[in-house]
Amino acid sequence: KTHETVLEINLNAISHNLNFFKSKLKLTTKMMVMVKAFGYGSGGFEIAKLLEHHKVDYLGVAFADEGILLKNAGIKLPIMVLNPENTSFSAIIQHQLEPEIYSLKGLNAFLKIAEKRKLKHFPIHIKLDTGMHRLGFEEENLDELIATLKENKFVKVRSVLSHMATSDALEHRDFALSQIDLFEKLSSKLMVELQIKPIRHILNTSGISNFPQAQYDMVRLGIGLYGVSNDVEEQKFLENVGTLKSVISQIRSIQAGESVGYGRRFIAEKPTKIATIPIGYADGISRHWGNGLGFVTINNQKVSIVGSICMDMLMVDISEINCKEGDQVIIFGKSPTVTFMANQLHTIPYEILTSISQRVKRVFYRE
Ligand SMILES: *Cc1c(COP(=O)(O)O)cnc(C)c1O
Repeated sequence: KTHETVLEINLNAISHNLNFFKSKLKLTTKMMVMVKAFGYGSGGFEIAKLLEHHKVDYLGVAFADEGILLKNAGIKLPIMVLNPENTSFSAIIQHQLEPEIYSLKGLNAFLKIAEKRKLKHFPIHIKLDTGMHRLGFEEENLDELIATLKENKFVKVRSVLSHMATSDALEHRDFALSQIDLFEKLSSKLMVELQIKPIRHILNTSGISNFPQAQYDMVRLGIGLYGVSNDVEEQKFLENVGTLKSVISQIRSIQAGESVGYGRRFIAEKPTKIATIPIGYADGISRHWGNGLGFVTINNQKVSIVGSICMDMLMVDISEINCKEGDQVIIFGKSPTVTFMANQLHTIPYEILTSISQRVKRVFYRE
């Protein structure tokens, strides 16, 4: 039993989920796993270490600093940096990270440094914009890209990638397929004109599930590893990874007409038992989850959050259940699930998971 707020991470569940998605792929398809934003809030180094044990092919991070942390901690897997700023290119080279290059400006800046450092065939990843319209080369930039890369000895195109905007939304299936078609066309042009055989990849988690025909040479698994699917049927095959737990700090009884918390936003209609839990919005629990919308689980029983969630605490109505000070409280995990919370809060599980602040200790365990 814990005596504080912790995010427990089930490493066996991560292995299970990894294998589940692997089983959907051809044996030869490589796997990049996204560990950006501290492994979707679940822990950067520990998860990277586990993935290294499982011999995935690549890790993906958003920023150079995230990759440097992992390399300094001893991670040996190749790491692609999705969003390298030009100012981080030197650090990227120094730490043997591999940048995603998404513009001519970025490419030229990187080549300048690569030349100065006399690099040979330094691995880079070319991002194509096929409809997401976030980062990447567009069709009309390709000729200039090809001209710049041709006979360049400083860098080597290790992979060519794109990202789908609607791989999780079946109503936009036609758009998704058009992105795949454009990726095929643009990546083929690069391969033919540069005479290269890069790793090609376009699928994220829901892409693996919905467009397995487009797995190319590699896929980029993210949210699925952490136990979340946007598909109700697929969700049944995934194991829950994170359980956010706390404890009851104090229990009190209040009378009808008395209130709880800031602004008196909860007024008891009858004698009520209130428990205070030491977790609040500074830990990443949205204030919108308070005032009767959200619930926590204590001794397998649901209890409603009453009043407004405070910075470091929240209060629940325990009138109908048996519990005592010190008892464990589940904020999310099996019930409520992050997916349920996200739906209620009109957001997505990604945001719930990555919002859990760094002051919440991560505890890793095996079953
Ligand atoms: C985050 C990210 C992924 C993983 O997406 P999921 O939906 O979590 O599987 C893949 N590719 C890129 C470019 C990303 O930014």
